[in-house]
Amino acid sequence: MQIVFASSNKNKIIEIQSMLPESIQILSLEDIGCLEEIPETADTIMGNAILKADYVTKKYGYDCFADDTGLEVSALNGEPGVYSARYSGEQRSSEDNMNKLLDNLSDKNNRKAQFKTVIALNINGKQQLFTGIAEGEITLEKTGNKGFGYDPIFRPLGYTETFAELSLEIKNEISHRGKATQDLIKFLIGIK
Ligand code: IMP
Repeated sequence: MQIVFASSNKNKIIEIQSMLPESIQILSLEDIGCLEEIPETADTIMGNAILKADYVTKKYGYDCFADDTGLEVSALNGEPGVYSARYSGEQRSSEDNMNKLLDNLSDKNNRKAQFKTVIALNINGKQQLFTGIAEGEITLEKTGNKGFGYDPIFRPLGYTETFAELSLEIKNEISHRGKATQDLIKFLIGIK
């Protein structure tokens, strides 16, 4: 079985291939000759995951999955959400994004937030969605130097450390992306 992972992130592709049996082969966008930028113009996280997976299946004819992630902050009505990567502008700077979020929360007592990942899978003419959520809160300041994105200001529920202080092993077990990916893998292994 061959499935395209509609991501340009090589690490994500290697990581997921390592969790699957050899009978399920993950192809990258490069492998199928898709070198153009896939539009991410939906206004929800789920919408963008579906848009990316459908683009590959419709244009290239492959079974495919795609993921999209956002950070939803309760006191900001779910912002930055689908706009997490470019919250502070098109330069997509994690530092600027975190600073903007801390500024916008400076007068709020409720610091609850959640990361959400949606994976859309097109397989055998059908679509399946997998959603992973990590609940937590936004800290008052940045702590830790592991991870990426908003990790230094996100403390998962039940932990005293931020994602940027936890090992990758623990983060993968409890994170939004980790949970959605585990469900995808169980599903793929079940139908192979
Ligand atoms: P993507 O859909 O995986 O590209 O994620 C969109 C944006 O959400 C990224 O640019 C990051 O700013 C943020 N993000 C996604 N996953 C994580 C994470 O695990 N930790 C921190 N930030 C994340």
